[in-house]
Amino acid sequence: MAQSFFGGIHPNDKKAATNKKPIEKLPPPARVVIPMSMHIGAPCQPCVAVGDMVTVGQRVGEPVAFVSAPVHASVSGKVVAVEPRIHFSGVPVMSVVIENDFNNTICPDIHPPVEKPGEITPEQLVEIVKNAGIVGMGGATFPTHVKISSGLGKVDTVIINASECEPYITSDHRFLLEYPEEVIGGATILARAFGVDRVHIGVEANKQNAAELLRLKIEEAKAPVVVDVLHTRYPQGAEKQLCQSITGRQVPPGALPAAIGCAVFNTVTTAAIYRAVYTGMPVTHRVVTVSGSGVNEPKNLECPIGTPICELLDACGGVKKNTFKILMGGPMMGHSQYDMDAPIGKGTNAILAFCEDEERTVEHPACIRCGKCMSVCPMKLQPVFMYQYERAGMLQELEEAHVMDCMECGACTYICPGRLHLVQTFRAGKQKINNAKAAAKAAAEAAAKAAEAKKEA
Ligand code: SF4
Ligand code: SF4
Repeated sequence: MAQSFFGGIHPNDKKAATNKKPIEKLPPPARVVIPMSMHIGAPCQPCVAVGDMVTVGQRVGEPVAFVSAPVHASVSGKVVAVEPRIHFSGVPVMSVVIENDFNNTICPDIHPPVEKPGEITPEQLVEIVKNAGIVGMGGATFPTHVKISSGLGKVDTVIINASECEPYITSDHRFLLEYPEEVIGGATILARAFGVDRVHIGVEANKQNAAELLRLKIEEAKAPVVVDVLHTRYPQGAEKQLCQSITGRQVPPGALPAAIGCAVFNTVTTAAIYRAVYTGMPVTHRVVTVSGSGVNEPKNLECPIGTPICELLDACGGVKKNTFKILMGGPMMGHSQYDMDAPIGKGTNAILAFCEDEERTVEHPACIRCGKCMSVCPMKLQPVFMYQYERAGMLQELEEAHVMDCMECGACTYICPGRLHLVQTFRAGKQKINNAKAAAKAAAEAAAKAAEAKKEA
């Protein structure tokens, strides 16, 4: 068993509903809505117009900055709208709407990008990954070509994040069991690009069958990959905690894993790299776990990017009558969804529905000063004080308490017997700090301009 990290919690993983269910293909949707923003960084610009016929894998959105990722058609058919549409973030985002012709015609431009995939250079890999629109598909959605290019020459440890620590979610687990060769193949490509002897795949102990299968396949392929079985503890899959579990090194506050020589890639992201290098296929589909007490028949579904949430729920027999909440992502870090027409994005690993009997909200949350929130915070923060500072509008004290290091894992909220909305408060507090800084900067610039104008007058 690998090393450990500070804090964390042991929620019931609730994975039994889907962890033995093979991935099913969702019946093709009649329409998909492809948002121009499914990644961290600048949104893409649409590069197709209403009336255009498109094919699977054809680029429909061009990146306008390095920190961005192109987007591609996930079905073949006709573009029927290029306009803002409701997005999983809750606000309208420019999107390309494609009416499916159900022919599944693959874009003729898609072909293996290199003759000898086993011999590609790091620079070629960055270009291939960029063109394929690959982002962190565990939910972070940071463009993968940026992560690779910024880590070249600095990274001595490459880690594949197969911990999938959030309750309910089993999409990565099933992916490991059904496509282990692709994950190992992607890890081998990364080993070569970063010049490391071996890549670590970090798997939580509750996925022992996946760890055993991977070891078997690694042995068969003689791949430069090792499997590290990790404690089942949330948030084991957070990048910084995973780096510490595998290497014993700690990422300094405010820094990224590259600061300690690590680069972390999600399981499905790694397989997407393999597919892009060997076939040229960009990211057009993903596996989504549909589960929770409100879902009639929980499943793991492979669906085209841009499929409306309602189509996945329908394919699982719909939701129960007393469902009160639908989340995109896990119960710890997922986001509530209010419009079931919002589309599945590249980073969507789960759609969860919950019934009323799981509602934990109380009318008057109150701190009983038990200190549990401090004992579980993996960032060693003091949530109880941060909460008080935010509530009192003490933004300077809140920042000095390192709220910006809060990764919003939700462990403190989970453990809090007073039912305080801790993580929601920290999210709001960070926004207020950023807003205050932006306002101060704007005021300083305006004052400088005014002083300049006065001097010239
Ligand atoms: S866990 Fe909740 S009740 Fe306990 S000290 Fe922290 S905020 Fe207060
Ligand atoms: S949400 Fe933030 S404060 Fe709460 S446990 Fe996670 S990192 Fe710590």
